[in-house]
Parts: sequence; C-alpha cells; structure tokens
Amino acid sequence: MPIDKDSVVSFHYRLRVDGEQVEDSHEGEPLAYLHGHGNIIPGLESAMAGKEAGENFSTTIAPEMAYGPRREDAVARVQMKHVLTKGRLAPGQPIMVNTEHGPRQVRVLKPGKFVVDVDANHPMAGATLNFDIEIVEVRAASAEELAHGHVHGAGGHHH
Ligand code: ZN
Repeated sequence: MPIDKDSVVSFHYRLRVDGEQVEDSHEGEPLAYLHGHGNIIPGLESAMAGKEAGENFSTTIAPEMAYGPRREDAVARVQMKHVLTKGRLAPGQPIMVNTEHGPRQVRVLKPGKFVVDVDANHPMAGATLNFDIEIVEVRAASAEELAHGHVHGAGGHHH
C-alpha cells in the first residue's frame, strides 16, 4: 500500500549535512511514524507520500521544511546562577538553563566565570538536509494509534 494519511511507516535513513553523514539508523531498528500527523519534519513527510515498502529514494530538504532558519536572537548571555548543569562547561556542550519559560536545553558557545554565552537554536537550524531513505514497512494504523497520534510498538512509543 502506498503511504497515505494514517499509514504507519517504518523506515531506515542516512542523513547528510554539507556532504557529511550525521545520522544513520541502520545500526538499530527502523524508525516508525504515523503519516499525516506532523510526527516528522514537514519536508520528509511530504517526500514520503505515495512511496511503498521496499522503495529507496533520496531527498534534499531546505531549512524552512526542516528545523527552520537559524535565529541570531536565539544567542544569549546567561548568568551562571541560571545554569542547571553542574561542572565545567565546554564549547558545544548541551546544557540546561532556567528561563522565564522554564528549563530549556541550549548549547554552550563560550563559557566564562560568571556568565556563559549560549545558543538556543536547534543544532540543525539553518541546515539543508540530504536524506537517503529506505521504506521498510507500510501498514494501516490501529484505532488506538490514531487516537494517540503516534505509533506504538517497535520503533514507536512504548507506554
Ligand atoms: Zn500512545
């Protein structure tokens, strides 16, 4: 059956950014998602539509259809007293900070003694994504999966 709204799709993928491989699902189980429910990035979801089990394809996804553009105003200087992560901080390290909207994960740009410069952008914000996709299985969703809006079992949610 071709992938359509409410299909449960299991797939393997390789993700390259700027020619460099950053993720590969082939060492583990395939990923499973419920099609048409915004469970994966929009560009990948629309590329999946109509494909069938056993198909392989490659697709290039612009930032606007992936994790969005990089925002310069997501870079901030934070006082150390708002940093929840203990220990020495290193550039590139993901840490938790307290914000007015609650705890949030950011990445360290430049650690200091009393303040730290951080970046709250998604690590793949602004990136054009190149996916090699292998569709492993396509099946209809169960009533329970549709009610929850996500896949249960292998590659999906375990309650
Ligand atoms: Zn559920």
